[in-house]
Amino acid sequence: MRQSRLLLPTLREVPAEADSASHAWLLRAGYIRQLAAGVYTYLPLGRRVLRKLEQIVREEMDRAGAQELLLPALQPAELWRESGRYSRYGAELMRLNDRHGREFVLGPTHEEAITSLVKGEVHSYRKLPVSVYQIQTKFRDERRPRFGLLRGREFLMKDAYSFDADWAGLDVSYSLMYQAYRNIMERCQLDYRAVDADSGTIGGEGGSHEFIVFAGIGEDVVAACDHCDYAANIEKASSSHSVNTPPLPGGAALEKMHTPEVHTIEELTQFLQVPPEQLIKTLIYVLDGKQPVAVVVRGDHEVNELKVQAYVGAESIELADPVTVEQATGAPPGFAGPLGLKIPILLDRDVSTLREGIAGANERDYHLRHVSPARDIVTSHIGDFRNVVDGETCPNCQAGKLKLSRGIEVGHIFKLGTKYSQMLGASYLDRNGKQQDIIMGCYGIGISRLLSAVVEQHYDERGIVWPAALAPYRVHIIPVSVKDRQQIELAEQLYEQLARKGIEVLLDDREERPGIKFNDADLIGIPNRIIIGKTAEHGVIEFIKRGKAEVEKITVEEALSRFA
Ligand code: ATP
Ligand code: MG
Ligand code: MG
Ligand code: MG
Repeated sequence: MRQSRLLLPTLREVPAEADSASHAWLLRAGYIRQLAAGVYTYLPLGRRVLRKLEQIVREEMDRAGAQELLLPALQPAELWRESGRYSRYGAELMRLNDRHGREFVLGPTHEEAITSLVKGEVHSYRKLPVSVYQIQTKFRDERRPRFGLLRGREFLMKDAYSFDADWAGLDVSYSLMYQAYRNIMERCQLDYRAVDADSGTIGGEGGSHEFIVFAGIGEDVVAACDHCDYAANIEKASSSHSVNTPPLPGGAALEKMHTPEVHTIEELTQFLQVPPEQLIKTLIYVLDGKQPVAVVVRGDHEVNELKVQAYVGAESIELADPVTVEQATGAPPGFAGPLGLKIPILLDRDVSTLREGIAGANERDYHLRHVSPARDIVTSHIGDFRNVVDGETCPNCQAGKLKLSRGIEVGHIFKLGTKYSQMLGASYLDRNGKQQDIIMGCYGIGISRLLSAVVEQHYDERGIVWPAALAPYRVHIIPVSVKDRQQIELAEQLYEQLARKGIEVLLDDREERPGIKFNDADLIGIPNRIIIGKTAEHGVIEFIKRGKAEVEKITVEEALSRFA
């Protein structure tokens, strides 16, 4: 591909809308553009990377014995009523009507659609087991789309579904998928962990694992033992944790804390051992209990103090009106005192760093105008209640300590069992002619989220550094001056020869200053760079690996021989 003709709009500045490293780099390097909140266009380079990811996922799914099909995104609401999820899925479900007023949804996931298909087509044990998958656009009206592709409202997912005659069969199907997911993570060169998880809205009675890619901006927290192989997401770790402790009436979690008097944000962040921007999350974190209680810090400009209020959340969607911590947790009046809840946190400095997380004070009426974003943050973390703390003893081995780390959920697999087959009536006749519910599993991986997660782990101060398997092109040829006949001829020649070998190569044939070309090359992150400059007349070029400092001067022949 010739760069002069490529739709590759790179940006010099970090766009204001960027709220994570991957988001910023993908915008700056011309991979994606936003059309609406949580809705993105993939520009040519972005599309190429997405395809590579799709291909890796396809290969691993095929290898695991799953077959590709394509289900509709547009689905009748009736089907969702049958499964009970039309209401239960809540506001995230995108709903619409056709011209006759019939109700439809845009699929956020496809258990209903696939179960309905299998119900109609599979009736005998002889047709089982069967596993299918699709790569398709999903729609979820996320309350707070953010971090670019990481939390979109329209996004690309691979979802697979297995159908077995019995639980032993499901165990086999599940472990094949588990292995496929591991292979995908490794092929994408991700630092990740497969962790025990709960089933969430998808539901089901069997086990579940999440594949978490470690990243500071991740919205998930992994608790992993430093001694045994125990690893669970924080919700799961918290629920197994509570087996050892009496059920907490919310407030008991507070009781465990010995909070010193906290007067400044500095003291608070020091006490909690978090950067100020994580304050809101951390408060939710430490104040957790069995009750869905979230706490938000609010500013009160009149007394110039921060106050803490608790919210009670319904299943993850709507929040009740603010209530006091005592009301929310059922703790006796005054109980919250030691926690600092009633302790005014006196503002002795600018709180601008906190404004993202809270409705800050200091500025007249700031908190009044910005309360709703703060509430959004609370709801988006309503699932975060936890009573596991960093460094506590691992419940599994009782020997090691639990270490908490942040990460991004890129994949999630579930043993569904008969939840959907029962609801929707998908059954088969067994060997003895007896009717049985089909045993299901489902397996999701966010392909567009994966793209961002890879960038989150693969960049330096100059731009993206793609793992070879995912780069949009394998080689980037840069003639320093296209006006120099010798340089451009050599560049063209190399370009032709590499292309003939089937190597994906990008030729920067633009009439730009070298500085601009190199900056763009660093931004877009192609792994192998060939610079053709003054030594072109001797058939010598410069070879550089993206992300490495060494520059090798080699002959054109040598360069060609490096790409089989
Ligand atoms: P999250 O907890 O981040 O909201 P989820 O648990 O709701 O994700 P699943 O229903 O398990 O997601 O869907 C399977 C996969 O789809 C997720 O592991 C993730 O990779 C991807 N995914 C889910 N929601 C989004 C989204 N809004 N944008 C991009 N990818 C998503
Ligand atoms: Mg979700
Ligand atoms: Mg999740
Ligand atoms: Mg999930």
